[in-house]
Amino acid sequence: MSKYDEALKILIEEVDEANCEYGNIRPSALKSVRDIEELVKRATPMKPLGISITHEGRCANCPSCNKLVHEQTKDAYNRPLHVCHCGQLIDWSDK
Ligand SMILES: [Zn+2]
Repeated sequence: MSKYDEALKILIEEVDEANCEYGNIRPSALKSVRDIEELVKRATPMKPLGISITHEGRCANCPSCNKLVHEQTKDAYNRPLHVCHCGQLIDWSDK
């Protein structure tokens, strides 16, 4: 479990406890927790779906947004990019 997963877990527990005790957690606070949960999920590398081999290398669908991602996509510095445009980290390893 990453430190971000741990931080999110603590945050969710605190919000749940406060909501049970006082029952007056603002909807914006609950939405913020869900937004952070989404961010933590995207920062956790996930396997791409349906890998196929093309003349440009391997491509597959992003597990979060389902858009096509290419393994050989490069960033502005010509480094291999392992992030979908939606922000999801992609784990291209064979493990
Ligand atoms: Zn995506």
